[in-house]
Amino acid sequence: MTQPAVDLTIVGSIGIDTIETPTEKQEEILGGSVSYACAAASFFTHTGMVGVVGTDFPQAFLDTWKDMSIDLEGLQTVEGKTFRWSGVYEENMDNRRTLSTELNVFEAFSPELPEDYREAPYLFLGNIHPALQLHVLEQVRNPKFILIDTMDLWINIGKDDLEKVIGKCHMLTLNESEAELFTGELTLNNAAKKLLELGPEYVLIKKGGNGSMLFTKDDIFLLHAYPLDHFKDPTGAGDTFAGGLMGALAASGRTDKDAIRQAMVYGSIVASFGVEEFSLERLKRLTRNEIESRVAEFKEMCALPSAIDTSNYQLTFENRDSYLYAHLTGKDSFAASLSYWNEIADQVKAQDCQKLLIHEALTGVVAKSEMNDIIMDLMDSGLRDIQIAFFDENPNDASMNVLGQTLATNKGANVKIFDSLEAAQNWIVQDG
Ligand code: AMP
Repeated sequence: MTQPAVDLTIVGSIGIDTIETPTEKQEEILGGSVSYACAAASFFTHTGMVGVVGTDFPQAFLDTWKDMSIDLEGLQTVEGKTFRWSGVYEENMDNRRTLSTELNVFEAFSPELPEDYREAPYLFLGNIHPALQLHVLEQVRNPKFILIDTMDLWINIGKDDLEKVIGKCHMLTLNESEAELFTGELTLNNAAKKLLELGPEYVLIKKGGNGSMLFTKDDIFLLHAYPLDHFKDPTGAGDTFAGGLMGALAASGRTDKDAIRQAMVYGSIVASFGVEEFSLERLKRLTRNEIESRVAEFKEMCALPSAIDTSNYQLTFENRDSYLYAHLTGKDSFAASLSYWNEIADQVKAQDCQKLLIHEALTGVVAKSEMNDIIMDLMDSGLRDIQIAFFDENPNDASMNVLGQTLATNKGANVKIFDSLEAAQNWIVQDG
């Protein structure tokens, strides 16, 4: 089999944008979903672009893509004007209004993949009409992983086609308001559940400056956005994120959940650079080293410390003639009881003893609801097979000990609770 010419094919819009923010206006700059996505992917993998421009498209923009080593064999140049879009950001940069959209050559765009791109193992269907996304799927040969993006327009006017194409992809990405619009669900969890029912294995919901969430049928992964001091233009951030994700995934050669989670980090970090300036200006200067050091900084920010040890108990053992004596003092809690029961079970195993006397003199309580978990854990640790006498010197709530005994007995354990140490000793020495 021959090597594919590109590892990742990306299809989407190419626009000449005019963007206004509260502080700045930039006219006729390079935009479009495929432009942002290919630029981000190009840091990681050999990427092919599929899109359309008019004969007015500036050479400088083409040079920008060439400098990023983006493969342009799938780029069509058609007689006429390039797609144009203009938008304005409100004061807080949260909301964006579209001022004008001129489809121009984009109106009759039909994405045709060069022969070389059809074997590419990774495919990103950027935001275009779902019927065109379906047309792309008819041309590819067995890709390993397909990501699809969409927008509110297609949810409103092309939902049937959209559902069809989503069902053929491995992963769907959309932003939170689109997820709500698509499903009518107000929580992202429920929206994601409905979207997963359409067929994709993964649903990635983008939350702008608040990061993103990856849903599967079994679990959820939360990714915060990298906190920036300032940014200039969030246009195309979602495309940059998705393009970087797909580029990093293609570079890994993998499609598993861990690889996707790692790739999300790369996508998010590249997007954090992208918004620092308009258009592709920051990405043009960006280096792989800068990406890696921000990824390392980001991972440090997200690192969870190992669990704080809140247990504050003392456990001592004494080997007596026919049994093991365990003495517990200090403070009880759920975490503490899981820990001391495991220590006791380890000691029983190590000494291969058949009889155990536990003398508990703890303060503090364990909740009733936690008792079942503790007993389950305890029984699994091998304590079911031995004789256990239990004496609690400070029974804050005697009913808890009775509950523990009942649960353990129901699991087949031989446990008895005593009111005095003497009675416990007598039973353990004499019985059995
Ligand atoms: P985003 O910020 O993810 O919405 O992407 C912004 C980019 O999408 C801009 O650079 C525009 O050129 C492009 N764009 C705007 N409207 C459309 C549309 N209706 N279809 C495809 N691309 C669009």
